[in-house]
Amino acid sequence: MSALRVAVVGSGPSGAYCAQLLTEEAGFPVEVDVFERLPAPFGLVRYGVAPDHPRIKSITTSFSEVFEDSPGVRFLGNVEVGRDISLEELREHYHAVVFASGAPLDRRLGVPGEDLDGVSAVREFVSWYQGHPDLAPDAFTLTGDRAIVIGVGNVALDAARMLVRSTEELRRTDVPEHIVDAFAASTIREVVVVGRRGPAFAKFTNKEFIELLEVETADVIVDPADLQLDPVQQAHADGSPTARRLLASFQKAADRAPEGRDRTIRFVFDRSPVEFVGDAAVSAVRLGRTSDPDDDGPHESVEAQLVLRSVGYAGKALDGLPFDVVTATVPHVDSRAVGVPGVYVAGWIKRGPTGVVGTNRGCALEAVTSILADADELRSAGTATSATEVDGLLDSRGVRVVDWLSWRAIDEAERAAGEAVGRERVKLHDRDELLRAAGRAG
Ligand SMILES: Cc1cc2nc3c(=O)[nH]c(=O)nc-3n(C[C@H](O)[C@H](O)[C@H](O)COP(=O)(O)OP(=O)(O)OC[C@H]3O[C@@H](n4cnc5c(N)ncnc54)[C@H](O)[C@@H]3O)c2cc1C
Repeated sequence: MSALRVAVVGSGPSGAYCAQLLTEEAGFPVEVDVFERLPAPFGLVRYGVAPDHPRIKSITTSFSEVFEDSPGVRFLGNVEVGRDISLEELREHYHAVVFASGAPLDRRLGVPGEDLDGVSAVREFVSWYQGHPDLAPDAFTLTGDRAIVIGVGNVALDAARMLVRSTEELRRTDVPEHIVDAFAASTIREVVVVGRRGPAFAKFTNKEFIELLEVETADVIVDPADLQLDPVQQAHADGSPTARRLLASFQKAADRAPEGRDRTIRFVFDRSPVEFVGDAAVSAVRLGRTSDPDDDGPHESVEAQLVLRSVGYAGKALDGLPFDVVTATVPHVDSRAVGVPGVYVAGWIKRGPTGVVGTNRGCALEAVTSILADADELRSAGTATSATEVDGLLDSRGVRVVDWLSWRAIDEAERAAGEAVGRERVKLHDRDELLRAAGRAG
């Protein structure tokens, strides 16, 4: 039987799980090409999961095995689907295409002043400190006294925690040296985390909050008055053990006297930004009370020189695929993209930006199950070609493909850069630098 050829778009968790599960579950030969627009694999595991969470990042070892040990699986890094090769072309060369392309955009607040300098999506800030090649090494300078993070999810806490970590702690991570230097030079002394609703509705996990309480460089301030729950919050807490656990941790924080640490993280609840104030750059945020829709001011104004809105990542519409603008996802039935035979979806582009790394395994399994159920039909309908033809097409366009061996060369260069400064790894940030290291594959 000839192999079922599958193109996977994206090498984050959902793409990697798709490749892994296709090889494990098929029971017949499969050829899987994983296309990745960046020179480096693993999506948000490399560029999202916080640098001080190395245990979660270590899932890359298991993802690597898919590319190392499965002869039918290839990594085609530095190839952007939609730019270097179109969906139509993928459909010509493969029996099935899985979009596992994540959620690369962010939601906006729709508040005046949102485009001022100094107001950014947390996604950009996270990408910057993780050394994502789309963000310039000097994209952020941490020169003000105060940062405000709008949003109370785990990503908001990651950003707040990074802003108060000590240089020594950052040196234990893999972030590029110039990023450690930028944090070392930071003058930010207070980070205010703003929750739209009351503390009972905070979205971050208790584990992440407790981790914040353990950071030795910062006092964490929760106002005891915020823990006097109104009836709506009380009803929610009564029905939710998760909320009750978090409220107990908030109480612990509220009971702790500040110790005069170098930095402070302060939580503010039941507030929404009504305006970002400043001339060219933001200088303050006006906050209104969310529980009072008639609150027409005067609004409290909190000075800040950096504002990070952390209100959700969003998927991006892709040429040739249906797109639901409300959920920013591709509509599907059992992972089959609606109206486009042979095209499947997995991960954040399918479900939206929720769930931990492991959630994407079940999500990928649904896609793989549908592909395998459709295999006979896909084979008879499709005109799939071969790896050689795809390579020839990319080559004819001058696309510089980073294959797995080239990625291994990047990996080695990063480990060597780490060893030189007593760290396990130091990420390369700049795309050209990554490609130069890839070129040393031999
Ligand atoms: C800041 C942050 C911190 C997180 N921390 C944790 C954590 O501590 N623990 C945890 O379990 N989960 C965490 N998560 C969640 C976890 O990262 C996600 O569940 C997971 O990465 C989603 O996987 P995905 O494959 O759908 O998307 P992604 O990981 O985003 O992967 C998508 C990939 O597709 C590529 N791509 C996009 N478009 C194209 C194209 N046109 N052509 C080729 N390639 C393309 C992208 O470059 C990317 O590599 C975190 C998420 C964020 C944002």
